Amino acid sequence: MLLKSYSKEVFRAKCNPNFEAVHCIAYLDQDIGDVLPYLNAVLGGFEYLKEHPAVIFKAQGKIITVHGNKIAINALKDAEEADKILEWLKKEINDAWDKRDEITPCFEGAPKPKIIEILKLLPKTNCRECGETTCMVFAAKMAEGIKATDDCSPMINENKEKLKNYMSSFRFEEQDI
Ligand code: SF4
Repeated sequence: MLLKSYSKEVFRAKCNPNFEAVHCIAYLDQDIGDVLPYLNAVLGGFEYLKEHPAVIFKAQGKIITVHGNKIAINALKDAEEADKILEWLKKEINDAWDKRDEITPCFEGAPKPKIIEILKLLPKTNCRECGETTCMVFAAKMAEGIKATDDCSPMINENKEKLKNYMSSFRFEEQDI
C-alpha cells in the first residue's frame, strides 16, 4: 500500500468566507509522486502538470488536484463529502500503484471538449437560469468541467442527449466517486 494515511484540513475560502462551499487539503504521510502518471492513465486527468508534478481531475463540479505530498479539493458541501472523495482517491491511488506494471504511464492531460460544439447545442437565449451571464460563459465552464448538461434547464431533451453523448467522450466530466 503506497498511501497509508493523511491528515486533512477543511476550511472556507479566505477570499469570501460567506460562501457555503468549503475546501479541503489532505497532507499525505507518504510521498505518492511516483504514482501520478499511473493515476492519470487510469482516471483520465483533466491536466497533468510536469514541472511540479500534479494531476488535476474535474468531477461532480469539483476540482481535485493530487500532488506528491498533498491533495486539494474545492467546492465541497462539507467535511463528510471531503472524507468520501479522499477515501475514493486513496483506493484509486493504491490500486494504480499495485497494478503499475500493467499500466502505461501517461504524462499528458485528457483531450478537452470544444466550447463551440457545446454552444451549438445550447438554447443561446442568455436567459441566465443557470446562474451564468451568457450561454457562451456556460459553454466555457462546461468545457472546464465546472457546469454539467442538466444545469441548463431550458435546453430541449434532444439536445441534452446529444450534449451528454458528446461530453461522455471526455472522461473527466463525471468521475464515478
Ligand atoms: S440556462 Fe441555458 S439558455 Fe439560459 S443562459 Fe444558461 S446556458 Fe444559456
